[in-house]
Amino acid sequence: MARKEKTEWEARRQAELKEAELPAITRDGAFRAEVVANIGGVEDAEQVLQFGGEGVGLFRTEFLYLERSTMPSIVEQVRAYRRVFEILDGRPLVVRTLDIGGDKDVPYLGMEKEPNPFLGWRAIRLCLDDPVLFKGQLRAILRASLHGNVKVMFPMIATIEELRRAKLLLEEAKKELRKEGKGFNEQMEVGVMIETPSAALLAQQLARECNFLSIGSNDLTQYTLAVDRGNKLVAKLFDHLHPAVLQLIKKTIDAAHQQGVWVGMCGEFGADPLGIILLLGMGIDEISVVPGMIPEAKSIIRSVDTTVARDVASQAVELSTALEVERLLYRELHRRFSKLAQSLFAVEARKR
Ligand code: PEP
Ligand code: MG
Repeated sequence: MARKEKTEWEARRQAELKEAELPAITRDGAFRAEVVANIGGVEDAEQVLQFGGEGVGLFRTEFLYLERSTMPSIVEQVRAYRRVFEILDGRPLVVRTLDIGGDKDVPYLGMEKEPNPFLGWRAIRLCLDDPVLFKGQLRAILRASLHGNVKVMFPMIATIEELRRAKLLLEEAKKELRKEGKGFNEQMEVGVMIETPSAALLAQQLARECNFLSIGSNDLTQYTLAVDRGNKLVAKLFDHLHPAVLQLIKKTIDAAHQQGVWVGMCGEFGADPLGIILLLGMGIDEISVVPGMIPEAKSIIRSVDTTVARDVASQAVELSTALEVERLLYRELHRRFSKLAQSLFAVEARKR
């Protein structure tokens, strides 16, 4: 970064940090989006409050299972969850059940090397095949649910049956705890991550059987465009602004609202300033980003008018390429957005 840019960036950052605690209401006062955090452990949870997060939209629980040689005990899990839940002190917190497989290997689970790990034994598929492991985690989340405003969410759902089976195992875990006289939050909400094109296309049906949806744009982009998200050779083909991805995101948001459930974005799309405008235009309820990005995300939301965002989003989904979407967004930004927004997006433009 050049010296002038760095000074400007630092001044903006300071201004954003000052307002980090305030809600994220659009410039016209017409819409408030919840800005929450993606976390992966106790240290991140502390940062959520520091940066003005209104809760947690994605608590990745893999840290409990990785880099060790045996399965964590339920007691150990409850202790870890409880610490995170207590730090959040009653703010809403979405815990995602185990998302291993794919690129995350866990040696003690005896996972085989797969030719196509991202299309293989991953996340909810693995959990449904190992009810002891899955129910153990659900019991731990339930036990700790007494210490926070906790919701549970299932990753990588591709079929309605997967959601039904996961909910059945959750009910079994609850029944066991009741029998043992152990308390938990009976009202804990259940959500589905929309990370596969199949889930996005069936968002209406999924929303009918759960309390919320959360869009994982990283996997949704990977599976929609058939581009391995971790493969450098095809990295230039990975673009969450691709109209096919935008259409699935829009479809998901509309479906959730038609079914009367809330919908969030917890993939990187929500950390892209251009993505934030589109999400506001599509009416997203919640945006979840890494804790350090919360002040900037709030500041972007405050610089946008909902009518402009809606207009831009409805044009964007009709376009043919990601480049056209990007060009539309920049053109509109220069024409219709505040000076602040323009300086924010200028930084983003240089990154692309
Ligand atoms: C996603 O896929 O967008 C997501 C949030 O999950 P992860 O990045 O952990 O796969
Ligand atoms: Mg994912």
